[in-house]
Amino acid sequence: MTIPIFQLNSGRGIPALGLGTYKLDGPVAAPTVAEALRLGYRHIDTAAIYGNEVQVGQGLRQSGVAREDVFITTKLWNDHHQRDRALRAFDQSLAALGLDYVDLYLIHWPVPADGLMVEAWRTLIEIADSGRAKSIGVSNFSAEDLAAVIDATGVVPAVNQIELHPLRQQRDLRALHAELGVVTQAWGPLGRGADLRDGVVRAVARDAGKTPAQTVLRWLVQLGIVAFPKTARPERLAENLAIDDFELGPRDMERLNAIPDAVR
Ligand code: NAD
Repeated sequence: MTIPIFQLNSGRGIPALGLGTYKLDGPVAAPTVAEALRLGYRHIDTAAIYGNEVQVGQGLRQSGVAREDVFITTKLWNDHHQRDRALRAFDQSLAALGLDYVDLYLIHWPVPADGLMVEAWRTLIEIADSGRAKSIGVSNFSAEDLAAVIDATGVVPAVNQIELHPLRQQRDLRALHAELGVVTQAWGPLGRGADLRDGVVRAVARDAGKTPAQTVLRWLVQLGIVAFPKTARPERLAENLAIDDFELGPRDMERLNAIPDAVR
């Protein structure tokens, strides 16, 4: 399995495909992470609020895959944007994961109302300077939020992790990311399963001889977008990773690009 590596503005590489872990908890969490790594996943996305950092760390150790071969992301939760709290939350995440660094640390949500977005970003810069987060970024940031942290610090987030899937393509924000050199990460890349029933997705998948999930993930990776679908089912873990043996042609890419956003 060859997963493309995308370049971050930190100079580090990030595997274009990973495993999402939202709602991956309880006794299945650690074995699922271990199984994913044994299958060839090299990128795990978690967050303090998911309550599964301990299990992600256990899964990593159970897998036998070397720490330095896996890209681990975690996120700062909303009530910890103040500097001291953010530093403490980061220490707690590292301790829960059982790691001495993460590959990527994100501000989970901007929470503009708390007035602490820039303070949180400055603290992430401090953490990156300490070497304990190899790259830093944000999640769920609007164009205005991005401008606020960049204008205040001059430091551009390596990624912005946003909801992105065939029925919500985030075209404007992606164009801005491209201008800024921010890598787009898609959360909910399968539309939580719903987009796999879309008529265009199914038609392109049929033509490609692939499943709807493989088609959507291949489309995202060909667009230069990082995706980490979540599943606890072994057969789906394998399915979602098997996207390197086909390529969508320009016409199929265009069909998927043209899917209108769902009415929200
Ligand atoms: P997703 O789009 O990955 O959908 C997951 C669901 O899709 C699964 O529960 C399953 O029902 C279905 N599925 C998975 N593989 C399938 C397959 N091969 N065939 C058919 N159905 C399949 O949604 P998600 O889990 O919400 O998003 C992925 C990850 O993004 C999360 O696990 C988490 O790591 C991250 N995330 C981040 C934020 C954020 O605010 N930054 C928010 C939500 C999720």
